[in-house]
Amino acid sequence: MSDLTLPGAGEASGSTGKPPAASFAQLPSVDRLLGEPELAALAQAQGQALLKRAINDELAAQREAIRAGRPCAERPALVAAIGQRIAALAAPSLRPVINLTGTVIHTNLGRALLADEAIEAVAAAMRGYAALEYDLASGGRGDRDGLVEDLLRELTGAESATVVNNNAAAVVLALAALAAKKEVLVSRGELIEIGGAFRMPDIMKTAGCRLVEVGTTNRTHARDYEGAITPRTALIVKAHTSNYAVEGFTASVDDAALARIAHAHGLPYMVDLGSGALVDLSRWGLPKEPLPQESLAAGADVVTFSGDKLLGGPQAGIVVGTRAAIAKIRKHPLKRALRLSKMTLAALEATLRIYRADHRLEERLPVLALLTRSMSDIRAAAERVLPPLQRFAGEGFAARIEPCASQIGSGALPVDRLPSFALHVSSRGRRGGRALEQLAGRLRALPVPVLGRIHDDALWLDCRTLLAADEEKLSEQLSAPKC
Ligand SMILES: *Cc1c(COP(=O)(O)O)cnc(C)c1O
Repeated sequence: MSDLTLPGAGEASGSTGKPPAASFAQLPSVDRLLGEPELAALAQAQGQALLKRAINDELAAQREAIRAGRPCAERPALVAAIGQRIAALAAPSLRPVINLTGTVIHTNLGRALLADEAIEAVAAAMRGYAALEYDLASGGRGDRDGLVEDLLRELTGAESATVVNNNAAAVVLALAALAAKKEVLVSRGELIEIGGAFRMPDIMKTAGCRLVEVGTTNRTHARDYEGAITPRTALIVKAHTSNYAVEGFTASVDDAALARIAHAHGLPYMVDLGSGALVDLSRWGLPKEPLPQESLAAGADVVTFSGDKLLGGPQAGIVVGTRAAIAKIRKHPLKRALRLSKMTLAALEATLRIYRADHRLEERLPVLALLTRSMSDIRAAAERVLPPLQRFAGEGFAARIEPCASQIGSGALPVDRLPSFALHVSSRGRRGGRALEQLAGRLRALPVPVLGRIHDDALWLDCRTLLAADEEKLSEQLSAPKC
């Protein structure tokens, strides 16, 4: 009966004019609730600790309600509420979602989907011990980079390769290792911000380098670089302008010319490719993204790119280049701080093996599968989802299929769009904007949230990124009776 003396109870009774004491007494004790058969079954599955916590949370909420003058819940409602709390406590925070935004490599939704081989390799590496840094031939210590270095060398033509946590880390590490306390030349047209805190000037500062801006925003010439080289210069960097395009009266200097200028002055030349792709995407009629092997062939000493953009692997930063440059990078203390986990290495190795086999890439790599998905396949999926979507949206909305344009995403190929089909939902009423926001909110509140985009007075659900594995779940959720 200690509930009776809870702080706040007195004031509440004063304001509502109803004594809450009787209501508090109606609340069952924790022990009584632990004995409820349904809850006891939940304790078997989820554990007593989680159940106790759910019970205490719910009882606290009930006391709060009683204090506010609301009646106390009946026993079945209380048991159901505790069941919901335990489900919420046990549910992961990293929720799966159905991505119908039309962006294939969506940074906020986890970027590249991994190939089955990569997923299996991660699971196997996590379940048991693995020779991560162990040389099985000699029985001595091995190097974890060795797991992927040969594959990267073979795929890019580089003399040497190393890998770190992500491409931003790769850039910082390479700058710190090659140009700390020295000047680094970058074209004014390439002072990129990738998002968040990745801005070229800040990255330079973090790495301990002095950024020297060269040329102008739209035009930078070879003579601009040559004129900026001083005895303090340590490196020339080119950053791929991956999330925008400079169009019109423009000029930039290509890899071969920049490598020549750098080497003529005894300097290394580095390229931050951003996405990078290991195969020419024009093979599938997709827009071409620059390849690390091309920059290397043109003379770059170091090329960095992401593992989880167009490559279609895990989050990683890949650094390929000359033996001398990579050796310096490997020796830097930051390398150890940025090293990859065995999960990532397992996934990256499996992904690279798919590229080396170069066999049915567009089936085995989900990113490529989504990018090359046929219009008829996308349309067929949209047609299957249209009826349940119309039912879910209700009378106030009109749903139909419309052509749309998907984005590759993550800065890759910013101006290129892929033709696709979307479910297009518009409001029949006035104040359609509010209604669309509410509909989008209802879709996000589904057990597996469904994400689309609102523009041009409609909610667009692009079916390019509707995975075959999610289609049934989507239709089922849209058809479930509303509570
Ligand atoms: C995406 C990108 C980065 C950052 O790569 P992360 O893998 O996200 O760390 C750096 N530079 C360029 C040009 C990029 O496109």
